[in-house]
Order: sequence, then C-alpha cells, then structure tokens
Amino acid sequence: MKRRITLHFPREAVHQPITYRLAVEFDIAAKILRAQIAPNQSGTMVVELSGDIDDLDAAEQWLEGQGLGLNRAAGQIQIDPQLCVDCGICSSLCPSGALTFAEPDCRLEFNAQRCLVCEQCIPSCPFEAIALVLDSSSVAAS
Ligand code: SF4
Ligand code: SF4
Repeated sequence: MKRRITLHFPREAVHQPITYRLAVEFDIAAKILRAQIAPNQSGTMVVELSGDIDDLDAAEQWLEGQGLGLNRAAGQIQIDPQLCVDCGICSSLCPSGALTFAEPDCRLEFNAQRCLVCEQCIPSCPFEAIALVLDSSSVAAS
C-alpha cells in the first residue's frame, strides 16, 4: 500500500539518509514528491511511501524516533475554476510556490507537484474556491 506523508526535519536531522534507510531497514520505497531543505536548516519533505502495512507502521515509528515530525496527507488540494476569480490572495500565503499569480495574464496557477498539502491556502480564499479532497482511503477510514 501507499501513504503520502509530510516529514518535518529538525535542523540536526537534515543530513540523515532517510530514504536509503527506509529501503534497507524497512523495505519501504520512498518517492520524494517535494523537498524544501537547505544545508544546516530545518526542512520539509513530502514523500510517498510504498510497502507492507506493518513495515509502513514500523517505518513511521522509526522516523518519529529520529526526531522527525510526521503528518499524513489526507488528500489533495483542488481549486474550483468556477469559483476562483484570480484575486491572487492565496498565492501570497503559499509557502512552497505551488500557487502562483503572475503577469501578464494575472491568472492563478496551481502546481500540484509543489504542494505540501499544508492547507494554509484554504481559509485564505474569500470565495471558498480551495478545498482538500480526501483520498478514498481517508474517507473509508473516517
Ligand atoms: S496546501 Fe495550499 S498553501 Fe499549502 S503548499 Fe499546497 S497550495 Fe500551497
Ligand atoms: S484566493 Fe480564491 S479566488 Fe483568489 S486566486 Fe486564490 S483560489 Fe482564486
């Protein structure tokens, strides 16, 4: 099975070979979807982990034991083009550059590959055009 999680690295954990150890010690394949980590700074990484459920649980426990913060991404951000008026408010709050608003056409652009699913943009939209669409596994579990 697959899980998409956001990892928050404290400064001292940034240089750990996380994906290598997940593969060797837990038989987990980690596909990095987005990373924002600078040398000697804390960082954030969105990864898709693939493996057996028991291995995934063990790997998540190990990651937390290494001092990393974990957030399970419950879904994906979607922008409703029928509601969006391209005001650009949300793009000014997006920490990853997933939402951009630029000349010359002054249209909102959403790059899902850059999205950290931090949900900061959702309450910023005065037209309620931004939503978190839950993954089917999340819906089934709730
Ligand atoms: S959830 Fe919204 S604010 Fe957060 S990274 Fe994705 S698009 Fe940007
Ligand atoms: S805040 Fe809402 S209406 Fe404005 S650009 Fe973002 S999604 Fe569109």
